[in-house]
Amino acid sequence: MAQQNNPVLPRGVTQATFEKALEAFRALLGEENVLAQPSQLTPYSKVMMSVENDAHAPSAALTVSSVEQVQGVVRICNEHKIPIWPISTGRNFGYGSAAPVQRGQVILDLKKMNRILKVDPDMCYALVEPGVTYQQLYDYIEENNLPLMLSFPAPSAIASPLGNIMDRGVGYTPYGEHFMMQCGMEVVLANGDIYRTGMGGVKGSNTWQIFKWGFGPTLDGMFTQANYGIVTKIGFWLMPKPPVFKPFEVIFENEEDIVDIVEMLRPLRISGTIPNSVVIANVLWEAGSANVRRQTYTTESGHTPDEILKKIQRDTGMGAWNLYAALYGTQEQVDADWKIVSEAFKRLGKGRIVTQEEAGDKQPFKYRAQLMSGVPNLQEFGLYNWRGGGGSMWFAPVSEARGSECEKQARLAKRILHKHGLDYVAEFIVGPRDMHHVVDVLFDRTNPEETARADACFNELLDEFEKEGYAVYRVNTRFQERVARSYGTVKRDVEHAIKRALDPNNILAPGRSGIDLHTYNKV
Ligand code: ADP
Repeated sequence: MAQQNNPVLPRGVTQATFEKALEAFRALLGEENVLAQPSQLTPYSKVMMSVENDAHAPSAALTVSSVEQVQGVVRICNEHKIPIWPISTGRNFGYGSAAPVQRGQVILDLKKMNRILKVDPDMCYALVEPGVTYQQLYDYIEENNLPLMLSFPAPSAIASPLGNIMDRGVGYTPYGEHFMMQCGMEVVLANGDIYRTGMGGVKGSNTWQIFKWGFGPTLDGMFTQANYGIVTKIGFWLMPKPPVFKPFEVIFENEEDIVDIVEMLRPLRISGTIPNSVVIANVLWEAGSANVRRQTYTTESGHTPDEILKKIQRDTGMGAWNLYAALYGTQEQVDADWKIVSEAFKRLGKGRIVTQEEAGDKQPFKYRAQLMSGVPNLQEFGLYNWRGGGGSMWFAPVSEARGSECEKQARLAKRILHKHGLDYVAEFIVGPRDMHHVVDVLFDRTNPEETARADACFNELLDEFEKEGYAVYRVNTRFQERVARSYGTVKRDVEHAIKRALDPNNILAPGRSGIDLHTYNKV
């Protein structure tokens, strides 16, 4: 096929070398799996970050269907020094979507590798390829009537378990810390070797998805949020579907209530009485995901004032904070736990409890209950309409599960967002000891002035939180280099030493989490 000169090239690669690489990719994968025309790349080019799409434009995209093809791609990349950016389904919205961390990287799209390799209803695990979506796995479990429950992020249906685990995402069930539930990976390394973690290297072993640690160093974590390999299979544990599931919400009137809520919750979470990743969502998160129209409340371009937040609360019955949790087990277990939990809330003397019976089909209760019971949905996309214009960047600092700390973080984030004319749209996802404080920095990307404000705001959030000893657990591709610096030089030295050892040609996702042999000069 006659090629136009490609307007986007990988860093340091000439047009002639790039053409040679494309030819080799075509010979390996077939014409139809090598996408290099700008129109073919549109689906991989759209980001939601505070920067032009151009800054993260890919030079080409490859779709592959087998592990052997992935090995072949890696071989060609080494030969021509072509950087590749692997994606599973590329739905990492608010963290970079499908686009590469650096302009010019070639997307390695794994979505055609979408086989569910095994679901074991006795041992309660799944082994899947990168392109398997949560919806696909959910349908498989339902069609085969398996007594298993999924855990996923929101919105979940179209994303993949593998991609979510690779970015260390979280969900809302008792298995909500997804990387903790991962067991066994297959990884294509930069030299083309196929490495299996845990028990996976033992010939004939049937415990690859059963026992994580294997023997000697255990390296699974090293491949997450990293660029040391392309993961082609992943195993993870599934929770047995409980006979009784009891979701509930507790609505709190005042912002300051966060202190008491978290103090009351922590012992219930650490003891396992409340087993799931509880969510505490603020009023704007509730309003956005229930598709309350921002324009109904204010037409101003700045942040939503506190009086309006109170008005939304009065009009909709939503709280300043809205806590969602659930109990799981037999009727006897749930009854016993409910007594403990409901009495703890009563002792607190604030908060209005809403049960499933009272909520009926009302949103956002309905989709929250679905998330906590493993039923995929897309309801949370409603957040993107709150402000409109397609800008969204997650700011996700880690906090102690301590009331005073959560309040301090909430106040700090709100002050900085308001200073830049943006809203504080936030939820806390409650681990036993930690909180993922997740703030959706929403902005109108069609408005350059607002986009510049969002960019400055995100930088200030990172800087000001760092001064207090806080850092984020995950971040979009625009800020990965910046965030890597928060974690110290020794960590970065080690990460680059590993990179040099495993990927000396720097072909796998250079720049991912700030790891890039080309720009990191400390040898
Ligand atoms: P999802 O399928 O859940 O939408 P993505 O495909 O967007 O997830 O991937 C999320 C992140 O994980 C991206 O930064 C991507 O580079 C990385 N990633 C995805 N799949 C793989 C893989 N198979 N191997 C290594 N990294 C991956």
